[in-house]
Amino acid sequence: MTDFSKMWVGGKWLAGDAGIRTVFSPTDGTKIADVPEASADQAAAAIDAARHAQPGWATLSPLQRGQIMHRIAALIRDHAAPLAELVVREQGKTISEARGEVGGAAEFFTYFAEFARRIQGEIFPSDAPGEQIWIQRVPVGVVVGIIPWNYPAALVSRKVAPAMIAGNAIVLKPHEETPLSALYMARLFEEAGVPAGVVNIITGAGNTVGAALTANPGIDLVTMTGSVPTGKAIMAAVAHNLVPVSLELGGKAPLIVMEDANLDLAVASAVTSRFMNCGQVCICNERMLVHEAVYDDFMARFIAATKALNVGDPMLDSTDIGPKVSGVELDKVERITKAAIAQGAKPLLRGGRPDKAPVEGGHWLLPTVLGDVTADMAIMRDEIFGPVVPVMRVSSFEEALEIANDSRYGLSAYLFTNDFTRIMRAVQDVRFGEIYINRIGPESLQGYHTGYRNSGPGGDDGIHGLDAYLRKKTVYANYSGKSPVGLMPWDGRCSVPASGGSNSR
Ligand code: NAD
Repeated sequence: MTDFSKMWVGGKWLAGDAGIRTVFSPTDGTKIADVPEASADQAAAAIDAARHAQPGWATLSPLQRGQIMHRIAALIRDHAAPLAELVVREQGKTISEARGEVGGAAEFFTYFAEFARRIQGEIFPSDAPGEQIWIQRVPVGVVVGIIPWNYPAALVSRKVAPAMIAGNAIVLKPHEETPLSALYMARLFEEAGVPAGVVNIITGAGNTVGAALTANPGIDLVTMTGSVPTGKAIMAAVAHNLVPVSLELGGKAPLIVMEDANLDLAVASAVTSRFMNCGQVCICNERMLVHEAVYDDFMARFIAATKALNVGDPMLDSTDIGPKVSGVELDKVERITKAAIAQGAKPLLRGGRPDKAPVEGGHWLLPTVLGDVTADMAIMRDEIFGPVVPVMRVSSFEEALEIANDSRYGLSAYLFTNDFTRIMRAVQDVRFGEIYINRIGPESLQGYHTGYRNSGPGGDDGIHGLDAYLRKKTVYANYSGKSPVGLMPWDGRCSVPASGGSNSR
């Protein structure tokens, strides 16, 4: 039985100075564990520990850092079964999804460890003879990572792995409602030999611990995944420090189905993309735009496939949809749905709370499908983050594009068509950070998970995600034995040799 009563800061296992917080099961409402509630002072101590540890970590070669990361990946794989169960227990996604999440959590470490020999700089010729200009890529220093509740294991890796290979130290704060996977992984980091203070897992509330971390003057980068309001609060706090911030915020992904689409593929993809993780994924299908020529056929199949989904105990392999993560989240989704119906949306499939809970005490919500919506309704504009989907009939590709783009979010968009011209039009005209054509997520490690507009500046994964964890340093290396001042051809104080002077070969 894992001990969750301590958090890992500066290589030590510490109780929380602000007390304890109880983590409850979304499936049956029972207590799972008590975890430390850190104080603002402990957040400051975690930053100090990271600052102290970082120079030594950066002195190791990337290959040495990568070796520890490969050990972490192996340990996560060794612990895949209990970690997946823990993800289910604290967050409520199905066990098969949790196994995928934990596989991804290991894969982030393998993928970024492979950058050990690929963090490279550039060399430019100088304007002066006898000099080179190097642009090196060096660690930023101390990173603060803040993550939400919907992927409590994979998002730990998504922030920690690139920070480690880049030579940074990181203080990571999981969401207060789902801290168990991060605390479990901290034990694996320790076992893998991560030096004290290089990775710190601190638990506690966003408005105390999170706020103290992001306002601390000792930090060099904040990378946060979460909601738009929190992203704005963090950006304001970080502005005070003048450090870079990378925000992965919410989404309102349109899923466009044109009349020439492969409908089997489109239906299966739309169902999975809406209802996986009980609709609690930033890249989920949040609104469907279906061409009128196939609307009836598509919707008949979509509703049949949705009705066939099995809502129940997420620990069972036969379950498709588990509970919502919390009562607060359930209430929010119910409120959004009722408001849409009050505005005229027609339930094509009326979900809501089940008459009989699959497991007593859990946060259960059955899938809802809403027709007769208009593009200006809140349900078509605000992130739902639950098992509810609005659908609109469109009469042309242009109309679908216009509605899709008319969003303050800009993370992911989906298009199902076999028309080459429409595909290329979408590539050109869909103003979202990710476009999936004839497929859905998840995103790939080598891609760049990035959003436009309120989905947040910055991004994760791939070479561009790693770039945020590195800063550039320009070196002017003069080996001429003379001062280069006054030797630049353009500064009027030197003359370029007319035909091969002493500096030409
Ligand atoms: P949230 O914003 O409520 O919380 C995210 C994290 O921020 C938590 O750890 C929380 O404790 C912390 N926090 C809260 N207030 C803070 C403050 N003032 N200072 C510092 N930290 C603070 O988000 P959530 O409800 O956990 O997650 C759901 C949201 O996350 C959705 O909008 C979803 O779309 C988004 N999300 C985005 C991505 C992506 O990659 N773009 C991925 C997953 C989830």
